[in-house]
Amino acid sequence: MDNPSRMSRREFTTLCAVGSGLVRPAQVFSLAQKSAPGKSGSPINPEQALRELLSGNERFVKGQPASPRRAPEDFRELAAAQYPEAVIVSCADSRVAPEILFDVGVGDVFVVRVAGNVVEGAGATVKGSIEYAIAELNVPLIMVLGHSGCGAVKAAIKHIDAKDSLPGAINGLVELIKPAVAQSQGVPGDILENAIRKNVEIGVERLKGLQPVLAPRVKDGKVNVVGALYDLRTGTVKMVG
Ligand SMILES: [Zn+2]
Repeated sequence: MDNPSRMSRREFTTLCAVGSGLVRPAQVFSLAQKSAPGKSGSPINPEQALRELLSGNERFVKGQPASPRRAPEDFRELAAAQYPEAVIVSCADSRVAPEILFDVGVGDVFVVRVAGNVVEGAGATVKGSIEYAIAELNVPLIMVLGHSGCGAVKAAIKHIDAKDSLPGAINGLVELIKPAVAQSQGVPGDILENAIRKNVEIGVERLKGLQPVLAPRVKDGKVNVVGALYDLRTGTVKMVG
């Protein structure tokens, strides 16, 4: 069975909210206009979603954020349902805050944060979260976002050949990044930068082929999976590949 479109879902949810008295008729218009950071009010495609994110990053880098949808009336309107424009799979690093660096607001991005932005091997919690956003919320874009100086990737480089074990579950996490390090060894350039990039590429490829939710939608062009890198020093997000 086909999933309802983003617009029909929104309209349906809004109608339900109106019917239940949660939303006053006057609010329907503004909610319908909320199509993620997009202001179009129509279903957003992967290309539009990416453009919105990158233009938001430009505002952030320039120090001219619009800081949209962060007022109390925004929370209230979104309480009944969410319509994020993108899934961001980013590192848990405190300096990589997607809502801030893409200059978006409440309800705009569905963020899955895990140290090292690992996907492959990360298990049901990470993959299931991403699949939920795609299958249930009809999000058109997934971005795997690595960043410069990533500590999780540094640890994987440091311990690539080590026989020692890191404490607790840290060892298991770092193990997930070691394939990216292994594939970066012997490649010209900085090993850390190369491994960070390779780790993003591995995540993107994994998600593109992930059955049964993602792969068919990627093949049909309904969903795009992209990789990007965030530079801690400049605040700039650059696409990978
Ligand atoms: Zn990191």
